[in-house]
Amino acid sequence: MHSADTIPVVWNENSSAEQYERARVGRVFNLRRPDRFPVAIVEAEKEEHIFEAVQLARKKDLRISVRSGGHSWAAWSVRDGAILIDLGKYKQIDLDEKTGIVAVSPSTTGQAINSFLGQKSLMFPGGHCPDVGLGGFLLQGGMGWVCRSWGWACQRLVAIDVITADSRRIRCDKNDHSDLFWAARGAGPGFPAIITKFYLQTISLPTHIRESVYIFPKEDFKIAFEWVTSIAEAYDTDTEIVCVGRFVPDYKESVVLVCFTTFKSSDEDAVKALQIAEDSVPPTSLQKHFARPTSLQQQYVQQGLANPSGHRYCTDNAYIDNDADVPDVLEKAFTTLPSRKSFALWYAMAPLSRRTLPDMALSMHSDHYFAIYTVWEGAEDDEQCQSWTFNIMKEMEPHTIGQYLGDSDFQVRNTKYWGKDQGEKLMRIRQNWDSDGRICGYLDRGDKSGTSGLQNIL
Ligand SMILES: Cc1cc2nc3c(=O)[nH]c(=O)nc-3n(C[C@H](O)[C@H](O)[C@H](O)COP(=O)(O)OP(=O)(O)OC[C@H]3O[C@@H](n4cnc5c(N)ncnc54)[C@H](O)[C@@H]3O)c2cc1C
Repeated sequence: MHSADTIPVVWNENSSAEQYERARVGRVFNLRRPDRFPVAIVEAEKEEHIFEAVQLARKKDLRISVRSGGHSWAAWSVRDGAILIDLGKYKQIDLDEKTGIVAVSPSTTGQAINSFLGQKSLMFPGGHCPDVGLGGFLLQGGMGWVCRSWGWACQRLVAIDVITADSRRIRCDKNDHSDLFWAARGAGPGFPAIITKFYLQTISLPTHIRESVYIFPKEDFKIAFEWVTSIAEAYDTDTEIVCVGRFVPDYKESVVLVCFTTFKSSDEDAVKALQIAEDSVPPTSLQKHFARPTSLQQQYVQQGLANPSGHRYCTDNAYIDNDADVPDVLEKAFTTLPSRKSFALWYAMAPLSRRTLPDMALSMHSDHYFAIYTVWEGAEDDEQCQSWTFNIMKEMEPHTIGQYLGDSDFQVRNTKYWGKDQGEKLMRIRQNWDSDGRICGYLDRGDKSGTSGLQNIL
């Protein structure tokens, strides 16, 4: 570690290989590590370090990349020839108990914020996995708990503090620098500044969480899927609904799980919400688990097990057209998984997808969010696992209307991420705030997109 004036920096040219490698990718979740090499990594511990890192990059005329939680599947933070500002050591959570607004540093994880808020009987619907950073998650919209009716996590964003590409410190909200505030809710990794703090509106903690899980043989995918989609849109609005194709210990073949997780303030309400599924479930399920008590902490443990660290991942996703024959479009992905740890996921988005969203960059959705998480252990399986994912998504393409940034890799596939007008407005905002392309932005093939950003076409 060397100090450039006062900041903690690990330079590529004069650190040990081990030290540099730890700083470069040690906090990258995906074990499929990129061949991209920043000039230096600033391990910021406070806001001042971020400010000075931006000045350092300007002085040396280098690009800047940012890492909050390190969970970008495609490791967007790791960029050739850049100064990487790693926010992992910059930790802050401050609650204003009068307003219920919590101010957090961007590397705060969903689990950390909820452990803190839980003590105050509050909650923030962050990412499902315990360790996803709020930084990347909120910027792309944030598919948090009960997104289908509680809304996108970024809809609870009240303000942000940022350091601009020309190193000014500003606060942005609906009145001040409202264009940047608009962009912060959906720009994803193309946001043209560095966020140092998020101000988030919390909600009351639902004290009674219960889940029902129904397991079907994969041959019955269509039966299970047609059932869950037939009840999803009108289902209880505090209930999250997912359908997952995956392997579970009891069965040799993969199975189809349909899960309802409800967040209520009494047991009676929780059981009542889950009864609707129980009363209509098709008779062919292999196992039924009705309304078992759970907690946010248990949910994080389950999610952590389903998304193990220390593994190689390849993910892709699509919003499926509401008018498509969705069971038909998804069947192959759900029933031909390439490894025992991989899974395919459908996440109910209605009724949110039928509402008019607030005016913000995030502007793409349908009733059907579909994602593949291909998970494996050794580099020898890279080719097979990646080509399975690529081929599945290719076949699906005619039935898709776009993608969610959070599970995307623009180096592999490019599609539509925002409505047409919102996409154009976002690219203008990016150019206004960072005309030199100081902040690395969207990582496309060859890292060429710069200030032009993404094309945003199907
Ligand atoms: C196991 C796992 C589970 C997931 N579950 C969910 C989920 O439930 N819901 C969901 O919506 N997504 C989910 N995701 C996707 C995840 O939200 C995105 O990958 C997100 O980008 C991760 O944020 P991060 O801060 O951890 O990542 P990072 O890799 O640290 O950041 C990603 C990029 O965001 C930008 N960025 C981050 N912080 C800042 C900042 N302070 N200022 C400016 N730009 C910044 C940078 O371009 C950065 O490279 C999951 C991912 C994983 C690996």
